Amino acid sequence: MDRNQLTQSLNLREELIAVGRPNRPGKRLVPSSITLHNPGNTGRTADADRHSKMVRNKGYHEGSNGAKIWVSWHYTVDDQCVIKQLPINEMAYHAKKGNGTSIAIEVCMNAGIDQAAANARAARLVAALLYDFGWDVNALKTHKDWTGKNCPQLLLSDWAAFKKNVEAIRTSITAASLGALSTKSHDVTSSRQKSSAALGEPSEDDLSVEIDHDLMTDQFLDTL
Ligand SMILES: [Zn+2]
Repeated sequence: MDRNQLTQSLNLREELIAVGRPNRPGKRLVPSSITLHNPGNTGRTADADRHSKMVRNKGYHEGSNGAKIWVSWHYTVDDQCVIKQLPINEMAYHAKKGNGTSIAIEVCMNAGIDQAAANARAARLVAALLYDFGWDVNALKTHKDWTGKNCPQLLLSDWAAFKKNVEAIRTSITAASLGALSTKSHDVTSSRQKSSAALGEPSEDDLSVEIDHDLMTDQFLDTL
């Protein structure tokens, strides 16, 4: 598939977490891998749009002591679209040590979703990122790889097949054809990125935060 066609097949839009929000701490990410998650919410309305609203307008879990645990990720995927939530040169709070080096993708699992279509869209997004970075499929990781958490809960049971599909897409990608409409402004790797020079370095505390998908309830997503 032509690289531009691949982007067009994603139905990608940007809804970035605002600069200065606690779950967009402005720390540098030099990515070397991509980490997949399933958010855990099976509610009927827990689609990409609602997760995007949550991560931009709320963005935290409440810990057992009531403390706010700020969480974030780079892309939300469902069966209709991909929503970019953070520039990929900025750290998200999703998988402890993975925060410092990994791009985070949440694949929705709401009731009524066409899960096969959502998984296929996620596979195309991952393949596009691998292609753009020049990585092979070994750069694809799970939340479980980082912390042992059972995530992405829907994909782990068939992880080898998912990776194989990603690799098949990646190796079929051809360079964008000459004369094709530029999709740069909506491409998976471009966005209104801060210059890396303006970003801080992740601290030990930054690398201790992970998403608790058990808390991704409907109540949690009710943000407005
Ligand atoms: Zn996860």
